[in-house]
Amino acid sequence: MKQTSISPPRMLAPNPWVADAAPYRAGVKAPSGPGSLAQNELPSSPPAAAAAITEAAYEVNRYPDPLATRLRERLARLHSVDPDQILVGGGSDEFLFLLATAFGGPGRVMCCADPPYWGHEHPALMSGADVVKVPLREYRHDLAGMEKVDADIAFICNPHNPTGTCLSAQQIARFSANTRAPLVVIDEAYLEFTDFPEETTAIPLVAQGKIVVLRTFSKFYGLAGARVGYLIATPGLVNVLRTVRPPFSVNSLAQAAALAVLNNPDFNDEMLPRIRRNRAIAAELFGNAGYRSVPSQANFLLVQCPGAETRLVEMLLDAGIAVRPGTNLGIADTVRVTVPDDEGLALLERALTTPPGAQDHNDKRTQS
Ligand SMILES: *Cc1c(COP(=O)(O)O)cnc(C)c1O
Repeated sequence: MKQTSISPPRMLAPNPWVADAAPYRAGVKAPSGPGSLAQNELPSSPPAAAAAITEAAYEVNRYPDPLATRLRERLARLHSVDPDQILVGGGSDEFLFLLATAFGGPGRVMCCADPPYWGHEHPALMSGADVVKVPLREYRHDLAGMEKVDADIAFICNPHNPTGTCLSAQQIARFSANTRAPLVVIDEAYLEFTDFPEETTAIPLVAQGKIVVLRTFSKFYGLAGARVGYLIATPGLVNVLRTVRPPFSVNSLAQAAALAVLNNPDFNDEMLPRIRRNRAIAAELFGNAGYRSVPSQANFLLVQCPGAETRLVEMLLDAGIAVRPGTNLGIADTVRVTVPDDEGLALLERALTTPPGAQDHNDKRTQS
């Protein structure tokens, strides 16, 4: 037999630490918007953003401002910092990859909680760095345990995802003073939902030079689909990350949307008390159905369901509600439920108060 001269192409092997990992698994959507409680999104979209995006769309032939200057200046005023201390990115997830590229790599050590937020572990691993995960204690960061780790960067999630527990600014200041890590990243993705944001944020500690704060427009501001976040750090660190970053990662529509929501705060100001109130009501609904939840300062609840995770996920899905199974988040026997608006709360109430079996019966009746 004649040998063919064409051999199959050799697949280039990724770095071993990439080959060992798996792609991100996003939370699922429910059939209806109000039932989509798997991704900690806001239940509705800010109208000012839609108007600003539409307007910006007429100039989409132009590259965006690489530094989002107007947005940066607006944020600098909001937080009383210098614009040089702010970097705007394509979601705060971008910063976690920039930090990993700039400071990670083989031989470097990153420290985070166990379970961690995906973005505090995965980008570090993808750079080839080692990750030391310190188990939570009573659903809270074990700061004393984390302090002892000989890490290059320590990641703190405040409030913590997926538990919703919160540290005070004093606890963070003490950690920053005691930790062996020269760089401490405080991820404040949910900070605006806390009861005392001013006493909780680490932004005033940034000037000390060791702390970096991450914020996002994806949660409180309701712009998860637009992909905008920002980082507050020293001008020196901002410069390092600017050197690493893709220059146009924040598109012009996203910049316009972010500026519009900051300039039209009514939507978020009205949403915030509803989320805080519904957080308490949702905890009560789960409590009455026999499920305890971790007291949360974020826009989600971690519901404890020993031995019943799959059953609870499926029961809620049957009722049109999608939640995040705790197993996917590294904390089995729980589900994470985004705090809904009133419509989603009604779905939740129906799901949790309908006796098992009756659900099927009701569904059949509506179909006929
Ligand atoms: C949702 C979330 C973010 C935000 O990510 P974006 O890329 O800004 O959408 C960051 N950190 C934590 C802990 C989160 O839960």
